[in-house]
Amino acid sequence: MNCCNDKPIIELPAQERLCKRHFLEYFENKVFKTIRKFDLIGKEENLGVALSGGKDSLTVLNLLSKLSKKNPKIRLTAIAVDEGIHGYREKTLINAKKFCEKNNIPLHIYSYREEFGMPLDDMLKTLDVKPCTICGIFRRYILNKKSRELGFTKIATGHNLDDEAQSIIMNQFKNNIQASARLGPKVGIKQNKNFVQRIKPLYLCTEKEVTIYAYISSLLDNFNECPNAAKSYRAQIRDMLNNFESKNAGTKYAIVNSFLQILPGLNQSFQGEEAGFCSSCGEAASKGECNACRYLDRLDKAGWTQRRMIKN
Ligand code: SF4
Ligand code: ZN
Repeated sequence: MNCCNDKPIIELPAQERLCKRHFLEYFENKVFKTIRKFDLIGKEENLGVALSGGKDSLTVLNLLSKLSKKNPKIRLTAIAVDEGIHGYREKTLINAKKFCEKNNIPLHIYSYREEFGMPLDDMLKTLDVKPCTICGIFRRYILNKKSRELGFTKIATGHNLDDEAQSIIMNQFKNNIQASARLGPKVGIKQNKNFVQRIKPLYLCTEKEVTIYAYISSLLDNFNECPNAAKSYRAQIRDMLNNFESKNAGTKYAIVNSFLQILPGLNQSFQGEEAGFCSSCGEAASKGECNACRYLDRLDKAGWTQRRMIKN
């Protein structure tokens, strides 16, 4: 069924076809409804937005910027991480800087080179590890630490419904249910003062919807994919789910929706697991050293002599 007489640009799983104007309205309403439904943003916030310069993070920043203009007590600051991925990150950071300049949003950029003494590309030459594993650990580390230092009340990320469905299935396939307890639209261990709560306003938006929204809103000039992405376990799960979704529309939504029903139980089961602090750097950790410190130790042992910079 078409929404009106204008040419449709997307068909939703419920078989409704929307034109550009109605899609923009539908998408923005969906995000604002998600924020209300999961109580993601309060009346007064000093909100950080994790900005990579890709379609997801620019979409979330664009929508939060609209929200902040209507509610001046919601302050926004963007925070970006330059992992040091040659030929990729420098391009997305151009999009990030352009957007923030145009919209008057302060932007802080932190790099692995400055924070840890080495870009990701060099870490991968030193250690035999999956790029996304080490990259994700260090990125989350920087985002959390800097968000706390900048006094953010929360940090918003661009995770969408596809990302969440992939994470849920990945954790099932890897028998890592504890990791699933850290998923959901609002993540954060309240008992840990070193942990800044993370929120996902695009939680119920599909990757396809976000891509179309970013494209028709002219949020970025180019779409780039990290050269390491195709090698990841996540990419295998993504392809599998996309294939399944194409034959059974609504599958990803069903995965996330059923997960939301069991999430309160998971949270209860793993309550207190991550309320500790890293014995080395003091950041939030379940026990002993945090994962970032463990990888820095491995880099040290592999002959990387540069003094780590994250010790307190
Ligand atoms: Fe890092 Fe993997 Fe994302 Fe590339 S795809 S930026 S290596 S997490
Ligand atoms: Zn640590």
